Amino acid sequence: MYLTRFFTLFAGLLIAGQAAADWHYDKQAIMGTEVHLQFWHEDEKTAQEINQAVMEEFRRIDRALSPYKPDSELSRVNRDGANGKALSISAELAEIIEKSLWYSDKTAGAFDITFATLGSLYDFREGQQADVETTEKLLPAVNYRHLKLNRSSRTLAFDDPRTKIDLGGIAKGYAVDRAVAILQHYGVENANVSAGGDARLLGDKRGKPWLVGIRHPRDKGKNAAVIPLENTAISTSGDYERFFIDDDQHRVHHIFNPATGKPTESDDRGDKTDRNKLISVSIIGPRGFDTDPLSTSVFVLGKQKGLALIEELPGFEAIVIDAGHRMFFSSGLQQ
Ligand code: ADP
Ligand code: MG
Repeated sequence: MYLTRFFTLFAGLLIAGQAAADWHYDKQAIMGTEVHLQFWHEDEKTAQEINQAVMEEFRRIDRALSPYKPDSELSRVNRDGANGKALSISAELAEIIEKSLWYSDKTAGAFDITFATLGSLYDFREGQQADVETTEKLLPAVNYRHLKLNRSSRTLAFDDPRTKIDLGGIAKGYAVDRAVAILQHYGVENANVSAGGDARLLGDKRGKPWLVGIRHPRDKGKNAAVIPLENTAISTSGDYERFFIDDDQHRVHHIFNPATGKPTESDDRGDKTDRNKLISVSIIGPRGFDTDPLSTSVFVLGKQKGLALIEELPGFEAIVIDAGHRMFFSSGLQQ
């Protein structure tokens, strides 16, 4: 994400200057992305402790929720779910699945963690995708209604043995909120923490707003916008982060339309002037646990339905870029 480059640049500038002695920075590769942390603290030793606690929390969440780690709770649930029995799950996993299901209802299924039934057959680095027959065969197993979550007994059952789940559209937003809770626990008042396209800002940048860049979806070196923000979360979903171009010149990317079981169609797949098709979506709101699933949702819903959803939710704003590279804002940002 562009955010990453922006903060790296800033980190460099500040370390070079004397006045930056009390800003602390770290960058680590976790959750399949770069986790960036910047915060203000007076005491060097405590700052190191805070830094470690935050990064350890990201690693803990990754160990629990990664689909690539065979020992993660998520992998276990996907394996054992096939037997149809109700599985005991952690309170944390139950909370994240409950939130995901809430967004599935709210978005008429545009956000659906069972996209993984087909999504897990894709490998964007290797240029691998599910073939047409497999897609048709497994499509009925892509449906959040197959998930039977019992919050009080903390169990989950899959009523289709082929259904798989993946929390890639919500886990990073959840993790940046957890990071901020740790920072607040230590009394930190100014911080910026991001995991790929999900960022959360605590307070301001000591007297000025944080400047968050939204990457141009088709020009890596460029910004589509730079937004001053404080005390908020911002999540961006784009079709330029993880993708490959297949033999038919189609852009195969990581955001799936659960209705088709395939990546949402983007501009390389036809009409560049389609005003409803989005290639970048940023959502601003109080918590990453909401802005992350919402950015994925609005991406899938398209401009019209996506912006209508954001207008309906108090406290959320959107910045979207359509297939023709035009930028649009929700009503609260239009002034
Ligand atoms: P990033 O992972 O780059 O932050 P997003 O927040 O846009 O990106 O989430 C994309 C991720 O969400 C995908 O990599 C995948 O794990 C998951 N995902 C893709 N499509 C859906 C969907 N329709 N509903 C829920 N999660 C999805
Ligand atoms: Mg998201």
